[in-house]
Amino acid sequence: MDKQQTVKFVDTIAERICRLSDDIWDNPELAYREFRSAALQKEALRELGFTVTENVAGIATAFSGSFGSGRPVIAILGEFDALAGLSQKAGADKCTPVVKGGNGHGCGHNALGAASIAAAAAVRQYLLETKKPGTVIYFGCPGEEGGSGKAFMARDGAFADADCAITWHPASQNIVSKNRNSANVQIKYRFTGRAAHAASAQKGRSALDAAELMNTGVQYLREHMPATCCLHYAFTDAGGVSPNVVQPRAELLYLIRGKNSEEAAALKARVDKIARGAAMMTETSVRIEFIKACSDYLPNDTLDAVAQKNAETIPLPKYSAEERDYAARLAKTYGGSGRGLRSYLEKRLAPEVAEPFKKHIGEPLYEFVLPLAKSRTTTKGSTDVGDVSHCCPTVNFNASCLAADTPGHSWQQTAQGKSSVMHKGLLWAAKVMAATAVDILNEPQTLEAAKEEFAKLTGGKPYVCPIPPNVKPRPIG
Ligand SMILES: [Zn+2]
Ligand SMILES: [Zn+2]
Repeated sequence: MDKQQTVKFVDTIAERICRLSDDIWDNPELAYREFRSAALQKEALRELGFTVTENVAGIATAFSGSFGSGRPVIAILGEFDALAGLSQKAGADKCTPVVKGGNGHGCGHNALGAASIAAAAAVRQYLLETKKPGTVIYFGCPGEEGGSGKAFMARDGAFADADCAITWHPASQNIVSKNRNSANVQIKYRFTGRAAHAASAQKGRSALDAAELMNTGVQYLREHMPATCCLHYAFTDAGGVSPNVVQPRAELLYLIRGKNSEEAAALKARVDKIARGAAMMTETSVRIEFIKACSDYLPNDTLDAVAQKNAETIPLPKYSAEERDYAARLAKTYGGSGRGLRSYLEKRLAPEVAEPFKKHIGEPLYEFVLPLAKSRTTTKGSTDVGDVSHCCPTVNFNASCLAADTPGHSWQQTAQGKSSVMHKGLLWAAKVMAATAVDILNEPQTLEAAKEEFAKLTGGKPYVCPIPPNVKPRPIG
């Protein structure tokens, strides 16, 4: 069995894998409550010949499926959690929730996990037939959305033995990610005051005032924080609906980003001070509760180049007129396509490299692989793949599964979760991952180079999880 046959193996399980993706889409579950989704993936792993380990890191919906023995140990990462409020009819071209306010797969994690299982199964077949040394492990990682499942798994040493990790994400472009995503930390600030009738408010101490003063303090902090930091917050409890009551309780959920975990932690310490100051000003008390954190993502040029070469070699899906027409109709609902591609071409690539791709701006589906850009630090989002990238060299790429420039976490994205374009994209992604794993198995010098690069980036320091040891993963809301 060679690389080409490994890639072709994905086609032999395509029907099973697309069914798995669709089944998970049909029952969207939120972070750390993905019991059915995890069960469906474990069932598929067993059918495909993997040894399943449950409760990885003591998390009920974290698991792994492994095959083979010896080194290298190749980790393939998958997800399966959904988002709140994004329930949506499959194939809709206007917002049509199935369950009002219900959950939906607005980030494509149904496809993410299914494709990663397909890739792991193809690598398993390769190891089985060639009898080469090596281990492939699919990691079922829960709670990516707001839960940093992989960081909790990494804290427990789940990836400590891996030589490298491979993953992907559904998107509207075929592109190897070179974004050095931010680290983040999520904190609850819970203020407690004293209730009173608002007409005799002198007796009360308002937790809502404290929360508002905290946010005001944070606005003044923004000017004095590094440009690579971001501060976001939500009122998760404003104390109720009665204006004639002095609110005795209020709660804020903060998401604090920095270029790395140290920077995010330093900013968190300053936000904590503001929270305590607000409590002091209002004679209320504040409880500061650490929810989760994730590390910045470290791209690996060596592995990125391997994935890029495979992405450019493995034939891309072909689309029908109907598929292009649906994508074009959807694009009209979010202001048309082209912005994302134009921005990438202008900001990330040299003009002469970008030029041949300009003709694609405005197309409904992107049917090409973008050239590799240089890695850059970005404040545009975080991923818990970051923690894996601090444990071993990691490669992460996007595959075109969606109408061009589909907004993330949107009803339009959920609507495309079971489409033929999604199926084609996830199978292509599985092939790129499988081919990359075969290259790593066959070229020890590539893995060595990836590890040297990794050691340089981390300064040889062992992974330190940004989540304190006593914090347990848990659902939000
Ligand atoms: Zn997401
Ligand atoms: Zn996602």
